[in-house]
Amino acid sequence: MSFIQLENITKAFTGSGRPAVDKLSLKIKEGEIISLLGPSGCGKTTTLRMIAGFENPSSGSIHIDGATIVNESRILPPEKRGIGMVFQDYALFPHMTIQKNVMFGLNKWKTREKKARVKEVLELVGLEEYGDRYPTQLSGGQQQRVALARALAPKPHVVLMDEPFSNLDAGLREKMRFDVTNILRRANTTAIIVTHDQKDAFAVSDRVVVMNEGVIQQIAAPKEMYRCPKNCFVAQFVGKTNILTGKMDNDLRNIHTHIGKVMLPEESKERLESVTLSIRPEGCMLSEKGAFCGVVDRVTYGGEYQELHVRLHNEPGLSKAPMMIYAPVEQDVEIGSIVSFDIKPELVALVE
Ligand code: ATP
Repeated sequence: MSFIQLENITKAFTGSGRPAVDKLSLKIKEGEIISLLGPSGCGKTTTLRMIAGFENPSSGSIHIDGATIVNESRILPPEKRGIGMVFQDYALFPHMTIQKNVMFGLNKWKTREKKARVKEVLELVGLEEYGDRYPTQLSGGQQQRVALARALAPKPHVVLMDEPFSNLDAGLREKMRFDVTNILRRANTTAIIVTHDQKDAFAVSDRVVVMNEGVIQQIAAPKEMYRCPKNCFVAQFVGKTNILTGKMDNDLRNIHTHIGKVMLPEESKERLESVTLSIRPEGCMLSEKGAFCGVVDRVTYGGEYQELHVRLHNEPGLSKAPMMIYAPVEQDVEIGSIVSFDIKPELVALVE
């Protein structure tokens, strides 16, 4: 039984061409953390705003915990939906202490219960010592935890977070991904997080929903999405990849491409004539007697690895894109040198 259900949600803004969100359906289980991931303008914020009640769908319905919150004949106002919202800029009230900020959504609670709940959520986010401070006296990460505490205080059905990590620098971002997930898990809250950053989505979510042009491209757990992207868009959006076309062998496992024979991780379930492959660069392993051989065109130092662009010897002309390969940083590779490599079938996927 799904806890949150979006059924055929469409949002067409007046005056714009294609709908911002187009017949989107999604089922979310209680306690699940879901990310809506996609490029700018793909409709993720509009989806979040329709769930929150800041925007109404043109058609479709949304149900939370068995109750219809919006459909053609019913629109429940935002404050009655049992939703906690964490905004991108946190939207804390600068003139209120942290305690007062967290207490803000509890105006219908009795005073004693209010105080106990504020104490409880500040403990949950690890800021019990900071209740008397003002937001400007806190770091970015601490402010975000206050925003999360404020959203969690009224015990909402679901917490919605809009680009929660985009204001944080790289180090803090990594820590906050861990902290936020931890807090949401301990609060046992269902959460939907909007992000355009694949690393954010993969680090915090049980399942990721990749969107493009208002349409869901794939819904999957992070590992599955990375290993088995459904189409070229997903393959290229959730990491770097090589896209190749080819013909399937009769064994349903080997694909004849312009670089040679590439093996799938397992037999294809159906016989396909022309196919498209995604081959992750880390699936291409430099090896002295590798099955594939080519000339290094470009070397980019990436810290933990170096990215090589290799033009294959058996390429007909230079029209095809070079293969992108990750090589260990300790390996000396010169532009113009000849390298050979093997391809790990586990990092090869058939895509649409
Ligand atoms: P970003 O990551 O840049 O915030 P997004 O994926 O969240 O992008 P949305 O903000 O949902 O995208 O916008 C989806 C589409 O709807 C865009 O083409 C946008 O221009 C359009 N749009 C959003 N809000 C409105 C509005 N109020 N009126 C008209 N068009 C809108």
